[in-house]
Amino acid sequence: MWLAVHYAEIALKGRNRPRFERLLSRNLERALQTFGRVRIRSLYGRLLVELGDGVPFEAVRERLERVFGVAYFGRVTVCEPAPEPIAKVAETLVSARGARTFGVRARRADKQHPFTSQELASEVGAHVVQATGARVNLTDPELWVEIHVLSRQALVFHERCHGPGGLPVGSGGRAVALLSGGIDSPVASHLITKRGCQLDFVHFHSSPYTGAASIEKARRVVALLARYQGTSHLHLVPFGTLQQTLARETPADPRIVLYRRFMLRIAEVVAGSAGALALVTGESLGQVSSQTLANLDTISRVAALPVLRPLIGMDKVEIIERARRIETYDISIEPDEDCCSYLMPSQPATWARPEELEEIESTLDVKGLVESAVAGIEVERVEPDP
Ligand code: ATP
Ligand code: MG
Repeated sequence: MWLAVHYAEIALKGRNRPRFERLLSRNLERALQTFGRVRIRSLYGRLLVELGDGVPFEAVRERLERVFGVAYFGRVTVCEPAPEPIAKVAETLVSARGARTFGVRARRADKQHPFTSQELASEVGAHVVQATGARVNLTDPELWVEIHVLSRQALVFHERCHGPGGLPVGSGGRAVALLSGGIDSPVASHLITKRGCQLDFVHFHSSPYTGAASIEKARRVVALLARYQGTSHLHLVPFGTLQQTLARETPADPRIVLYRRFMLRIAEVVAGSAGALALVTGESLGQVSSQTLANLDTISRVAALPVLRPLIGMDKVEIIERARRIETYDISIEPDEDCCSYLMPSQPATWARPEELEEIESTLDVKGLVESAVAGIEVERVEPDP
C-alpha cells in the first residue's frame, strides 16, 4: 500500500524544512512500524510511504491521525505521469466505488509536462465518463479523484483524510508538563505536544499518606498522551512529607500557592536533568481561586524557565470537549485523592502576594525540602496505549 502524506506549516519553514521532514518521517515510521516494514521518501514537498499489502487502511488512518505535522493524507495509486495511465487508474477507482458522480482535481508539482492540470483533468474526466457511465459533478460529487503529477510518477488519491495539523514532535525541543489527576493538565500537555515539543511528565502524589489512585491515573493518562509522542517518562514525586512540613509550619490561607511554588521548583529540577526549556501547567485564568492573575504571578516567580499555560483563555466546556477527544476525560473524572486536597484549607487565598510568600518561605529550608523531594523521585517509562 502506498500513502501520500502532506505536511502543514512545516512547508513554510524555509531552511528548516529538511530537519522538519526528517522528524516527520521518523515519527511516521514510529507510528506505522506496528504494520511491518515502512519505507518513506520525500518527493516534491510530500512524503510517499510504502507499507506492505494487506495492511488495513482504517488502522493506518487511526495512527496517522495522531502524527502531528500531518495536514492531510490518503492512499494513492502510483502510475506513469501521463494522461492515459492516470485515466485508467481513475476509471478503476470510480467503478470500484460504484460512484455515480465524480469530479477530478489535478495538480502538477512538476510543470515540465506537456499538458496543463486543466487539460489533464478534462481528459481523465472524459475517459471515466465514457468507460463507466458516471457523470461529472464539480460541486458535490460522490467521489473526488485527486491527481498529483510529479516528475516521474503521478499519484491518484483513493481518499483525502485530515491529519491532526501541528508540528512534528521533537521539532520544538523538550518541556516538562505538570500532570495532576485532573481534566486540565492532560489537555494542556496535548496542546504543547501538538506544537512540536516532546514532554516529560511530573506527577506529585501524597502516597503513602493517601492512596495511590492518582499515580495509576497519571500512568494511564500518560499512556494516552504517549500515542502522540511515543514512549514517555513519568516522574513520580513523593509530596506528602513536604506537605506535612508546610501544614505544620505555615499559615493555612496561602498554602495552595505555596504548594504550587514548590511544585514548580521541583519540576524545574526535573527539567534541568531532562534538558527541557519550559514547564507546562493546566491552569486557566480564574477557573479556581488559585488561578487568579495575582496567584499565577506569585506562583510563576519561583521559576526561571517559562511556564506555558495553553489553557489560560479557555472555558471549562472547551477544555472538556478536548479532553473527550483525546480520551483522557473518563480517566480524569475517576475519583482519587489528589495531593492538593491533602492537608488543604477550605478557603484558599485568592490574592497571595509574592512578598508574603517569600516571608513565609524565609522560615523554611526551601532548598532542603526541594532536594529531599527530588531525591525520592521515581521515573517510569510509559508505552503508548495502542
Ligand atoms: P487539573 O484539572 O489539571 O488538575 P485544576 O483545574 O484542577 O487542573 P489545580 O488543581 O489548581 O487546577 O492545578 C493547576 C495545575 O497545577 C494543574 O493543571 C497541573 O498542571 C498542576 N498540578 C496540580 N496538581 C498537580 C499534581 N498533583 N501533580 C502534578 N501537577 C499538578
Ligand atoms: Mg486539579
